[in-house]
Amino acid sequence: MSAVRVVSVPMRTRFRGITVREAALVEGPAGWGEWSPFLEYPPDVAEAWLRCAEEAATDDWPAPVRDRVPVNVTVPAVGPERAHAIVRAGGCRTAKVKVAEPGQDLAADEARLEAVRDALGPGGAIRVDANGGWSVDAAVAAIGRLDRAAGGLEYVEQPAATVEELAAVRRRVAVPVAADESIRRAADPFRVRALEAADIAVLKVQPLGGVRACLEIADRIGLPVVVSSALETSVGIAAGVALAAALPELPYACGLATVQLLTADVTADPLLPVDGALPVVRPTVDQARLTALAAPPDRVAHWEARLAATRAVRKDRRP
Ligand SMILES: [Mg+2]
Repeated sequence: MSAVRVVSVPMRTRFRGITVREAALVEGPAGWGEWSPFLEYPPDVAEAWLRCAEEAATDDWPAPVRDRVPVNVTVPAVGPERAHAIVRAGGCRTAKVKVAEPGQDLAADEARLEAVRDALGPGGAIRVDANGGWSVDAAVAAIGRLDRAAGGLEYVEQPAATVEELAAVRRRVAVPVAADESIRRAADPFRVRALEAADIAVLKVQPLGGVRACLEIADRIGLPVVVSSALETSVGIAAGVALAAALPELPYACGLATVQLLTADVTADPLLPVDGALPVVRPTVDQARLTALAAPPDRVAHWEARLAATRAVRKDRRP
């Protein structure tokens, strides 16, 4: 692969504790790939993310079985007015709402969900993501209240931290449970299935090692799949779209409309939803935008060192 181009893109709203998203982009014979593990991830975790970027740059993706991917608008842990505006501007029929944010209480989540339902109308679907923020008892109590505030929840994503807790929550609530961190951060993603801990599997192409790796997991895990992003630029989102387009079944909207959370992108044709869906295309990277968004030299040096460390992990793993 050629030299990496590191970009630094301000976020519209603080999300996942991040206000500026950094990404390393690499170009290969098949096109551009994105490597953007979050900054706190050590090399042994970032290695799977690198496989995804390399797959994108060097291989064609599997053949799509659909030409558009329905997506949800993502609502960060913001106040109700802002949540309402985000849903209205998003143009999607499904909203994914962050809940259980540290430092906020359940009343804030309820107010956010009421505003989202108001903006979406009665026909839209609302899902929440707690990012493992509740205990089992807290999750059971919160899910009941949030289900009422939302006028019905489509599912609750990662209500508690561990697979065992997820299974315990699932046995006590009627709202379907989706597993995210329990799959992408687990040594064994299939424990979710073994423990009957979830109704839905959330798959993300970078942390799980690429489009083909995710298709294999989807095949083995035996659950409906929702493809979600890791807050990538349109280059990284295209890999998620390629997975969603190739899955035999896609019963739920995907969490791939997150380019909306960035203030800029590396292409003139960002992967933004039209009528609630993303087109199955690979965006053309724009050199002028790459240059305009280029990270400062110290950050480029940081990413180059990180890349070297991540490749070193791979050498160590070789038998
Ligand atoms: Mg999640």
